[in-house]
Amino acid sequence: MKSTEFKTWMDSIERMSRNQRDKLRKRLEGKENTDEVIALIERNQDDKPACPYCKTSNLYRWGKASELQRYRCRQCNRTFNALTGTPLARLRHKDKWYEYEQTMIQGLSIRKSSDSCGIAKNTSFKWRHRFLQIPSTGQPSKMNGIVEADETYFLESFKGQRRLPRSARKRGGKAVKKGTSKEQVPVLVVRDRHGETANCILHGTSARQIEPVLIPLLNKDVILCTDGLPTYKQIARQANIAHRPVNIAAGQRVINNIYHIQNVNAYDSRLKQWMRKFNGVATRYLGSYLGWHRMIERLGQSITPTLCFLASLGKTRQIQ
Ligand SMILES: [Zn+2]
Repeated sequence: MKSTEFKTWMDSIERMSRNQRDKLRKRLEGKENTDEVIALIERNQDDKPACPYCKTSNLYRWGKASELQRYRCRQCNRTFNALTGTPLARLRHKDKWYEYEQTMIQGLSIRKSSDSCGIAKNTSFKWRHRFLQIPSTGQPSKMNGIVEADETYFLESFKGQRRLPRSARKRGGKAVKKGTSKEQVPVLVVRDRHGETANCILHGTSARQIEPVLIPLLNKDVILCTDGLPTYKQIARQANIAHRPVNIAAGQRVINNIYHIQNVNAYDSRLKQWMRKFNGVATRYLGSYLGWHRMIERLGQSITPTLCFLASLGKTRQIQ
């Protein structure tokens, strides 16, 4: 599956009803041994696989590799399997992927994860990188009704990088400056009252930086609730969007009993709570962790990136 197709599938999860999500979750549960994982992967190949290089379907079977059916393309002569070109390509020990992700959920280091699963440290390093590539896509397309928006901040981290652009801070430590500083990465969290949620990394908190992220998420007739920062007032006015700024700084919490930002703040607390166990995530993976958390909010705590990805290899139309 190509990354564009996967993005489409991830976007479709965001649009699923609660009932559809429950069905998907049931299908994903218990895929932990090699046969089940392979069956899940191969399911996508039942229905006319296409060559990932030249896109034709003129193929023949060409033995097996990494326990998966291998195909050879008559057009370009190249070989491939169901995972070629995906973040899971050429990874072995499929029975341990789920177990490995559980160690990631527990916040174990690369070394501790490798010890716990009985895999080499290099494998552990590679898996972490590959698994984290999966959830970086997928945001809801449009929000409706009352939409709450607020920014939250994550400490900048160069964890796992050999060369640090500045002197290292103690792991999971505190920023030197409180609030907004260069050491904090701003993330915009947007949530409507139907539970659609987007969280996007910002490159700054000016209107110029927030506007192109926020406005495409909003249907024209939404009512935007924010903490009343002038930036949001400016953006809403320019985009001609109804805006109810809650004057949080002056102690205001809710307007007319409906307009508030308590849902987005509650989401932010759950996100922060979930992130805490990772003891600071590397900034280059922040988008992946945000995506993973959106997945969990949609499909439950037991959902891991590879399970979600493997389900997307199956035909989306089977998920009714
Ligand atoms: Zn080909």
